Amino acid sequence: MCGIVGYLGSKKTLQVLLDGLRRLEYRGYDSAGISIGARGKEIKNIKSVGKIAALAQAIGNQEIDGDFGIAHTRWATHGGVTEKNAHPHHDCKKNIFLAHNGIIENYRELRAKLLEEGHKFYSETDTEVLAHLIEKFFSGNLENAVISALKLVKGSYGLAVIAKDDPEKIVVAKNSSPILIGMGNDEYLVASDASAILDHTKEVVYLNDGEIAVITLQGVEFTNLANQKLDKKKEVLEWNISEAQKGGYPHFMIKEIFEQADSIKNSLAGRLMVKEGNAKLGGIENIAEKLRDIDRLIITGCGTAYLAGLVGEFMLEEYAGIPVEVEMASELRYRKPVLDKNTALLCISQSGETIDTLVALREAKMKGLPTMGVVNVVGSTIARETEAGIYNHIGPEVSVASTKAFTSQLTILSLLTLFLGRQRQMSLVTGQRIAKELNALPKLIQKVLEQEPEIKKLAKKYYKSNNFLFIGRKYNYPVALEGALKLKEISYMNAQGCAAGETKHGPIAMIDKDFPTFAIAPKDSVYEKMISNIEEIKARGGSILAIATQGDKEIAKITKDVIYIPKTLEMLTPILSVIPLQIFAYHCAALRGYDVDKPRNLAKSVTVE
Ligand code: GLU
Repeated sequence: MCGIVGYLGSKKTLQVLLDGLRRLEYRGYDSAGISIGARGKEIKNIKSVGKIAALAQAIGNQEIDGDFGIAHTRWATHGGVTEKNAHPHHDCKKNIFLAHNGIIENYRELRAKLLEEGHKFYSETDTEVLAHLIEKFFSGNLENAVISALKLVKGSYGLAVIAKDDPEKIVVAKNSSPILIGMGNDEYLVASDASAILDHTKEVVYLNDGEIAVITLQGVEFTNLANQKLDKKKEVLEWNISEAQKGGYPHFMIKEIFEQADSIKNSLAGRLMVKEGNAKLGGIENIAEKLRDIDRLIITGCGTAYLAGLVGEFMLEEYAGIPVEVEMASELRYRKPVLDKNTALLCISQSGETIDTLVALREAKMKGLPTMGVVNVVGSTIARETEAGIYNHIGPEVSVASTKAFTSQLTILSLLTLFLGRQRQMSLVTGQRIAKELNALPKLIQKVLEQEPEIKKLAKKYYKSNNFLFIGRKYNYPVALEGALKLKEISYMNAQGCAAGETKHGPIAMIDKDFPTFAIAPKDSVYEKMISNIEEIKARGGSILAIATQGDKEIAKITKDVIYIPKTLEMLTPILSVIPLQIFAYHCAALRGYDVDKPRNLAKSVTVE
C-alpha cells in the first residue's frame, strides 16, 4: 500500500534507493528501511521510524553500499509504528530480506504454523510470515522459494525479495498491489509507483496479478506462479514526476476514486466470513463481550465521516437492532448527552487526528463508556486512545476531499453490523446474504467506475449551474448530503442535500429551471416515494439528474440524465450510489478550473476546533 524501490546495477545502490524513497514521500508513510547486499557479504539492513531524513541519518557514514538492494516506506496496517515493524523484513538466518506492500490475510494461521516449526518472529507485522515462508522453501534458488511460498499465501502484495545466498538478484511478485520493473541500460529498478524510477528510465514493464519477475544482471525473466515463462512488452512512460505520482491521473482525487474497487477489497480482506455469515474483527475482539451488553451506540465524526455514521445508523438499527444516535463531534463535545454505562461510542476519522472527534472521545472515556474507532491511519491518536477499533486499510488518502475513505467507512460499518447483528438477533441466513453481497462489491464498484465518461458528460452539461439540490431517502439520504458536500467543497457551487420527503417543506421553493436536482433513486423500499418527489420537482420546471438501478425503465421516462448502478442489497447501495456523485463533483470542479486536490480554505486533517 505504500512504497517499494529496488535496484540492481552499477550506480551507487544506496543513493538510488534513498532518492527513490524520497520520490515516494508524497504518499505519506510512517517509517522506512533499506536492505543492501553484495556477493559474498551479509545483507545490511537499516530501518527507522519517521521520515527518509531520519533513515538517512541512521545510515550516517556507515559503509552499507553494495550491488543490489531494496527499500520501503511503510504505511502500517498490522502492528504499530516501530523500527522492528518497519520493512524490509528478514528470515531467521538473515538470508532473505523483503519489502511488501499490501496485506497478508491468512498471516495468523501461517505464523502459528511457522512458530510450531521453530521459526522465530521479531515483529508484529503480517509481512514477516513471508520471509519465514520463503526461508522454509529456500534451497539456493530464490524465485523457486518465492513461488512455493506465495502458493500458500492469501492476500494482496507488491513484493520485492533479495537473498544473501542467491545474490545479485531481485525477485518481484504482484497480487492486487501495483509494482513495476524499470528497464534501464544494464540496470534494473523495481518500484511500486513510477515516480521512484523516472530519474533513471522511462521504459517499464508492469506486472499483472499472479506474475513474477526475476531480475539479474543478465536481464529480467517473467513467469507466473505456475512457473510458465511469459513474454511481456515494455511500455515507455511519457509522464513527468508529478503525473507519475498521480498514476497518470490529473489529480489525486480522481486517482483515489478509481482505487475504490481495490480499497474496498482491502477493507474486507481477512474479515468477511461468508459461510458463517459473520465478520472477524480482530481489533474489537477485546471488548466483544462488553459489546454484547450495550443497548445504545453513539456514532460521532465530522464532515464526510459524520455522514458515513448516518448510513451506519440505518444499517445497525435495521439489522442489529441497536438504537443508534449519530452526532457531529463538534456538537457532542459541548452539550450534555445522557451517557449511561450500556452506551458505547464509535468514533469515525480517516486521519485519526480530528480534534473534535478526539475531544468527544476523551469525554466519553472519562464517563466510562466503551469506545471504538474506525480509523485509517494506524497508530494515530484516536486509534491509540480508543479501547478497540477497526482500521480501514486503504492506504494514504492524499486528496483533501475524502472519497475512498467514505466508501471504506461504509464497508467497515457493514462489517460491524454483521458482527453486532450476529451477537444479537440476526439469523445465519441473513448474515450470509449480507456477507455474500459485501464480497461482490469490488466487482460492482468496477462497473460503476466504467461509467465515468457518461458522468463527465453530465458534468459538462451542468458545471455552470450555481446551485444544486441533492435528494435521497432512507439509506441514500446521507448519500444526498455527501453528494452536496463533495460538490460544494471542491467546486464551490451552492449545493444542498435534503431528505427527499422534506423538499416540499421548504427547499422546493428554490426550484426553477436554473436549479437542477440530483436524485439518488435506486430500486429499493422507498423507490416509489422517490419517484413522486422527483415528479414534484419536475412539475416546477426543475431539471433532474438521477442515479438509478440497472434495468429501471421508469426513470428514463422522467429524465435522460441517468447514471445506472448495479443491484445490490439496499443497505449497501450507498457504497455504489455515492461514486457517480464523487466523479460528478470532481469533473465540475476540474471544468471550473479549481485546484481539486487542495480546495480553498480546507485542510486534510483538521486538528483545530
Ligand atoms: N501490511 C504491511 C505492514 O503493516 C505492509 C504495509 C504497507 O503496505 O506499507 O507492515
